[in-house]
Amino acid sequence: MPLNPRHGGSVANKEQLERGLRVAVSETVRIPPKSVDPNIKNYHWLDLVKGLFDAYDSDAETALIMDIHGNIAEGPGFNVFTVKDGKLKTPAFGVLSGITRQTVFDLCKETGLSVSAADLSRDELMQADEVFITSTAGGIMPVTQVDGRNIGDGKVGSLTRRLTDLYWQKHTDPAWSTAIAYP
Ligand SMILES: *Cc1c(COP(=O)(O)O)cnc(C)c1O
Repeated sequence: MPLNPRHGGSVANKEQLERGLRVAVSETVRIPPKSVDPNIKNYHWLDLVKGLFDAYDSDAETALIMDIHGNIAEGPGFNVFTVKDGKLKTPAFGVLSGITRQTVFDLCKETGLSVSAADLSRDELMQADEVFITSTAGGIMPVTQVDGRNIGDGKVGSLTRRLTDLYWQKHTDPAWSTAIAYP
């Protein structure tokens, strides 16, 4: 995410964190892994930036773009998760395996939630009970609208809330964090 000072280095601002982000799915295809390995953190982002412009054109706040097979990939600086019937899913192909994405896997393991990395279709995204995105820039952030349609009841999901709270609790848990003594 291009760091916007108004967002305090987060993908989502305070209001968006409270009510959930409005996201648009762009037809822009993510640069395939055979061209640029997405697991090497890079800012070769014209695909993601084009997706963002498309999102702004449709009055959304940020974007998700597709992989070369037409499944959902990721957005400008974040990974995406769906919750359906209590089970979590995130795209496996053509994405950066973010450390916040990994933290969600770790949190799911600890809390006994089911999570998988697999192809995620656009329909599955639209029909999810909850959607959230993950990035070091903001942590776990709720999505409540995709392409102008509500996800679930259009409110921040209960599992999303629970994981977000846990995510921030772990920042002060010695088992999950490394204390740094600043001079
Ligand atoms: C940085 C980034 C993410 C999120 O990674 P984190 O390690 O969780 O911050 C996801 N996708 C892309 C394309 C990124 O550049």
